[in-house]
Amino acid sequence: MRKTVSFTRHSANIFFHILTRCNLRCRHCYINPDQHGRNTLDIDTIDRWLALFARRHPSPNVIFLGGEPTLHPDLTIAVKRSRDLGYASVTIDTNGYLFHDILNRVTPHEVDYFSFSLDGPSPKVNDPLRGNGCFKQCTQGIAAAKLRGFAVSLIYTVSRANIDHLHRMPSLLAELGVDRFFIQVIGVRGKWTEDARHRDVLAQVDRNTWLEVIPQVAEAAARRGITVTFPKVFLDPKEPFECAGLVADNYFIFPNGRVYRCPLCEDYPLHSLEIRNDRLAETAKVNEADLFPLVIPEGCVMNRIIQPCNLPPADGCNLPYKIACCMLKEEITP
Ligand code: SF4
Ligand code: SF4
Repeated sequence: MRKTVSFTRHSANIFFHILTRCNLRCRHCYINPDQHGRNTLDIDTIDRWLALFARRHPSPNVIFLGGEPTLHPDLTIAVKRSRDLGYASVTIDTNGYLFHDILNRVTPHEVDYFSFSLDGPSPKVNDPLRGNGCFKQCTQGIAAAKLRGFAVSLIYTVSRANIDHLHRMPSLLAELGVDRFFIQVIGVRGKWTEDARHRDVLAQVDRNTWLEVIPQVAEAAARRGITVTFPKVFLDPKEPFECAGLVADNYFIFPNGRVYRCPLCEDYPLHSLEIRNDRLAETAKVNEADLFPLVIPEGCVMNRIIQPCNLPPADGCNLPYKIACCMLKEEITP
């Protein structure tokens, strides 16, 4: 069954970057230490920041991110603390290297999902994007997680470099026992955007290609019993547009204390909140919150500003489509 997943209005999602350090150098990495900080949060700070959001929102969800979050020696404590604080679900996003023996130090009762990043169905496709040996490491990590009883999801970031290989993923996912499949669209951000050698190879796919390929692959994966989520990206002119910054409770927290409500704003000092002395404080204008209410015919304002490449061609007032909020997803269930 295919449906658009409306924004969750009753639960908050805490995307918690506990460090920005990583063992890999993926070509499309969006981590930007100049904007996000280079520090690793100590466990006491993580604890206080988790408590801060647990006080503001009943039963929030937390997704631990990096860099590579399993490089943090106290991730295990952070997971257990999340449970004690009443977080409804805990996810760990990982590149598959699973440092600090993490699989043996947490349980499936404590971690709802290990979410692995893999960008190709074979080493030949994945490793040029993520690094030599990554495919093997990631697929072995998935197998080890499944063996220990964890639910596993997989994130595939689609660009021109790997869309032609996406159709080979459903059989691999089924073979690995992956429970959920997230197809992501590459963001026009990160170092690759400044490098002419990578710009064309990694660029976003055009609308026709996206609409031809993504739903079909998602349905093929769903037929194998896997729930698939992918960004809607394009809206028909009559479909309602909503900005998650106005109607949802998503918080993207970085180790330097910046808190964004919109992931597209993360490369700029546009954060609307920051953590100061363990309190959440509003930042000075102009910030992302000033952009959210702006209504433009093209849809998302931040797309208009930073990713104009995927905007509809101007045709008087009759735009053929709008750009959806990047947080708006479609879901296909088996
Ligand atoms: S694994 Fe993630 S954080 Fe690390 S380099 Fe790759 S994209 Fe960046
Ligand atoms: S991606 Fe666009 S629509 Fe979504 S939160 Fe950001 S500014 Fe709002």
